[in-house]
Amino acid sequence: ALDAAFFIRWMTAAAASIDREADRLTELDSPIGDADHGSNMQRGFAAVRKLLETAAPQTPGAVLTAAGRQLISTVGGASGPLYGTLLRRAGKVLGDAERVTPAELNAALAAGVDAVSQLGGAAPGDKTMLDALVPAVGAGAAFDAAAAAAAEGALATVPLQARKGRASYLGERSIGHQDPGATSSALLFAALAEAAK
Ligand code: ADP
Ligand code: MG
Ligand code: MG
Repeated sequence: ALDAAFFIRWMTAAAASIDREADRLTELDSPIGDADHGSNMQRGFAAVRKLLETAAPQTPGAVLTAAGRQLISTVGGASGPLYGTLLRRAGKVLGDAERVTPAELNAALAAGVDAVSQLGGAAPGDKTMLDALVPAVGAGAAFDAAAAAAAEGALATVPLQARKGRASYLGERSIGHQDPGATSSALLFAALAEAAK
């Protein structure tokens, strides 16, 4: 089963990977956005890492709730409230259990993804983070498979026309570019798979 230390490892691995890929995320956000996704995510996850170093939450749910709250308060862009909602909702579903199974984590993340969809009004196919998140949680409790599905989902945003978020202002000109938020979602699931090793 997965304890608080596992969730702290996941968030720390996510922060490291966002750091490494920040320039690429910002580059993806420049033709179809405002070129800040990398710096938004970097600022948010640096704050998450710092919080987890000092606060040391004791349960899986508390780690995710604290991380989500931190993203909401430090990321100005659309992605902050959306990722914050994902983690907070998942944390709430996990409650105060000291250990959770991969299946319980999968179910909690699925509830988080539903909350993201509700908050942003987007569905798969709209060229958003949901194009990576929905297949990732659909892949089940094997985190390697979830990471692969998320990466595939991010790549599959290239031919789509954006229907939500800033990229939708471009209409057909959003076609042919990979969505930055779907790309960062794939990084979060890759970090989850890495933490599980
Ligand atoms: P902003 O667009 O405010 O600058 P970011 O650049 O940090 O915010 O994040 C952009 C990403 O947020 C997009 O690539 C997309 O994946 C995601 N996004 C934007 N709007 C929505 C929405 N309504 N639902 C889901 N995801 C969204
Ligand atoms: Mg942006
Ligand atoms: Mg912005």
